[in-house]
Amino acid sequence: MNILASGSHPDDIEIGCSGTLIKDSQQGHDVFLLVITRGEKGGEAEARQEEQIKAAEIMGAKDVFWGGFTDTELLDRANEIIHLIESYIEKIQPNFIFVNFFDDTHQDHRTVNRSVLSAARYVRNVMFYEVPTTNNFTPNIFVDIGSVFELKLKALEAHSSQVMKTNIPDLSIIDIARSSAHFRGVQGRVPLAEGFVSERLFINID
Ligand SMILES: [Zn+2]
Repeated sequence: MNILASGSHPDDIEIGCSGTLIKDSQQGHDVFLLVITRGEKGGEAEARQEEQIKAAEIMGAKDVFWGGFTDTELLDRANEIIHLIESYIEKIQPNFIFVNFFDDTHQDHRTVNRSVLSAARYVRNVMFYEVPTTNNFTPNIFVDIGSVFELKLKALEAHSSQVMKTNIPDLSIIDIARSSAHFRGVQGRVPLAEGFVSERLFINID
């Protein structure tokens, strides 16, 4: 299967669904990343791009594509983003798409969510992941990430400029990833999980 994970910024995908993507790539599926901005409001663009490429390698992704839009300025450019995502859907023909959730304090996350929803209207499986700025997220799908959790942490650590940029003193993104994985794990009845909300999910995949 082909899997497309989209994020507004470098490291969105890693915190939201990298455990799942690592499992997918380990099982022989082709994982592609589409990162809409280079996250230049949170660090130096080239450095963040390099961090994203390193993280993609750790996740076993086939390729990373860049949207070329400007960090924090996506709100008024939804039409262009929809067309961009449509072109990658045409190219990749994904069976699954993962993207940020629609209820989120970051306007870029909301915009990319809405854009994917339009662009992926004929994609069978569309799943939303959570990040630390997500609100009101009640997952109904769980993936057991126990076997790949250390690799997920490595993928997050690859974004070295961002590890301590949580806006919470002395709390790293690694701490957050660990807590979230246990919390979603408890809900899913395993020690460590990622949780998702599905827009559409077929359970008879062949
Ligand atoms: Zn983000």
